[in-house]
Amino acid sequence: MIFNAVILSIRLYFCGSKCTMNLSDHLHHKVFRIIASVAAEEHTPSYVIGGFVRDLLIEGAGNTPKDIDIVVIGSGIEMAEKVKRSIGEELSLTVFKNFGTAMLKWGDTEIEFVGARKESYRRNSRKPLVENGTLEDDQNRRDFTINAMAISLNPDNFGELLDPFGGVRHLEEKVIITPLEPGSTFSDDPLRMLRGIRFATRLGFDIDPATQNAIHQYRERIGIVSQERITDELNKIIATKQPGKGFQLLDQTGLLEMILPELHQLKGVEEVNEQLHKDNFLHTLEVLDNIALKTDDLWLRWAALLHDIAKPRTRKYETGTGWTFHAHEFIGAKMIPGIFRRLKLPLNEKMKYVQKLVQLHLRPIILSQDIVTDAAIRRLIFDAGEDLEDLMTLCEADITSKNPRTVKRHLRNFQIVREKIIELEERDSIRNFQPPISGDDIQKVFGIPPSRPVGIIKNAIKEAILDGEIPNNFEAACQKMVEIGEAMGLTVHQELKREDE
Ligand code: ATP
Ligand code: MG
Repeated sequence: MIFNAVILSIRLYFCGSKCTMNLSDHLHHKVFRIIASVAAEEHTPSYVIGGFVRDLLIEGAGNTPKDIDIVVIGSGIEMAEKVKRSIGEELSLTVFKNFGTAMLKWGDTEIEFVGARKESYRRNSRKPLVENGTLEDDQNRRDFTINAMAISLNPDNFGELLDPFGGVRHLEEKVIITPLEPGSTFSDDPLRMLRGIRFATRLGFDIDPATQNAIHQYRERIGIVSQERITDELNKIIATKQPGKGFQLLDQTGLLEMILPELHQLKGVEEVNEQLHKDNFLHTLEVLDNIALKTDDLWLRWAALLHDIAKPRTRKYETGTGWTFHAHEFIGAKMIPGIFRRLKLPLNEKMKYVQKLVQLHLRPIILSQDIVTDAAIRRLIFDAGEDLEDLMTLCEADITSKNPRTVKRHLRNFQIVREKIIELEERDSIRNFQPPISGDDIQKVFGIPPSRPVGIIKNAIKEAILDGEIPNNFEAACQKMVEIGEAMGLTVHQELKREDE
């Protein structure tokens, strides 16, 4: 964070009891001067507000911020049209008449214009009643103090920071806090509860205790938020550098139980005969944080979050063995479609990918504990296919022992598995395995219609290849086919020629 550098240079403007900061030197994007000149000509005060200001103070401004929110005292749509004309290039302008907003796209930056507004809420809806308002009204309706700061784009005080709720102080103190009374902020629009947790997670901030208590108190209000928006926030939390913190906060505020009860049920330890099993919730969050160090892939991160999801259902204490979670990987994989459907996550190949990783997540671990046979590795390569690397990443993240020697031993064993995989792949090309002989071929050779024997022969060839009994090639597969077919009482009806011969 270059927050301190920016703040220190700005502190030079500190004067008297009131801190006024001027950030004009940090407004690099060309659009700011253009908006300023249109605002002056039209006598329409304009401000940049929200996420851009927050991120500018935290990390400084690049030349191409991804989105810029402009609030104008007047019509946002008219302002956007005039700014577009003033830029004079062919730019795309999207107008949302119903919302009174307009979005101008300039290169990679989206600039959104909205008229300042005052909002009031009804009990059953997140949709406020809206009327025109002042800048202060508009800042009052913002979710957090760090998101309510504005910078003037007007001639008399261009660049001046307008921070009515102490957003700068809260950035320094690393705290998320609502501008107004937190209860009504969250009751009005409960999506803000998830946004607060998302910002705390992304920025590594704490949530102010009164703000956090209010989230807990109003948690039931999350019921009026659409599942799509909830899931969008969950995905954004999962995409942060240390998502585990976000799930801790979701749990502490009671939201997790409502949004993802299966994950909440992983909590806790039980003791029988002085034997404890580990807290699978904490373990899962550790796995999620571990995997976040290795990959940005959202679905691989989801797989980490859900890999042990069936442990509560399969947990058993067995005398002599201790705690077991038999078949939790299979039952977990079966639970995925239901969870995805409820969360309105895609029910396509992304879901299948998560299912596959959940189902296979123990395989490399078992391999790394036993003596590794070629056949077992070949089967792993075959079953994981193109997702093998991701599976290995998940398994490595799954090692969360407190004992560094255990971690080291596991990682070393995984390294052996990885080396074996490379060695076998070079030899056998098992990944994306296509059987050298098709069902059609088998029918032709023995002169039989599509039937059970065809499947049996095909499968036996595949098994023989995976077991390393025969090499993965046409000739060997052909010979095996004839052998098995004849043993089943079939006779060769026609020789099989390879296509390219
Ligand atoms: P980012 O875009 O980096 O996720 P952001 O703060 O820019 O963060 P946006 O969703 O782009 O978030 O919203 C822009 C601004 O609009 C916020 O900074 C905040 O001031 C305001 N805002 C957005 N959603 C809400 C809400 N639900 N309640 C109150 N204010 C909101
Ligand atoms: Mg934004």
